[in-house]
Amino acid sequence: MRTAILGAGVSGLAAAHALSKLPGEDFRVFEQASAPGGLCRVIEKDGFRFDVVSHVLHFRSERARRLVYELLGDDLISVARSSWIYFRGRYIPYPFQSHLVILG
Ligand SMILES: Cc1cc2nc3c(=O)[nH]c(=O)nc-3n(C[C@H](O)[C@H](O)[C@H](O)COP(=O)(O)OP(=O)(O)OC[C@H]3O[C@@H](n4cnc5c(N)ncnc54)[C@H](O)[C@@H]3O)c2cc1C
Repeated sequence: MRTAILGAGVSGLAAAHALSKLPGEDFRVFEQASAPGGLCRVIEKDGFRFDVVSHVLHFRSERARRLVYELLGDDLISVARSSWIYFRGRYIPYPFQSHLVILG
């Protein structure tokens, strides 16, 4: 093995994906947790699925967008956002900092 990648979060998996494109590259990914994904992991408990953190993908780069669509295929779900922050008795649209005018 030439390259050891520590951690199978998105960074480690992206590195592994890039290395997999290089002919003859010998690498291994080591993950301390029982499942890959890092902060982007989903935990299943009692029939419910919990995101460790949010999984909102912001595509500034067309290359990154294409890669994610290519990798996820039919598993990619596109959802119109409806996110609100309950603050002082009112619902403020997310992102909070862009809607402070509502508080005035
Ligand atoms: C609350 C919150 C919300 C977020 N929302 C968004 C969002 O909406 N959109 C977005 O793009 N980003 C978001 N992020 C940021 C995004 O989640 C992280 O930038 C990204 O997941 C980091 O990935 P990573 O692979 O670098 O690290 P991690 O996901 O932390 O993965 C590191 C992995 O390495 C493993 N590891 C650590 N040490 C070792 C070791 N010695 N040996 C083996 N394995 C090891 C860990 O177990 C883990 O699996 C959010 C972050 C947080 C905290």
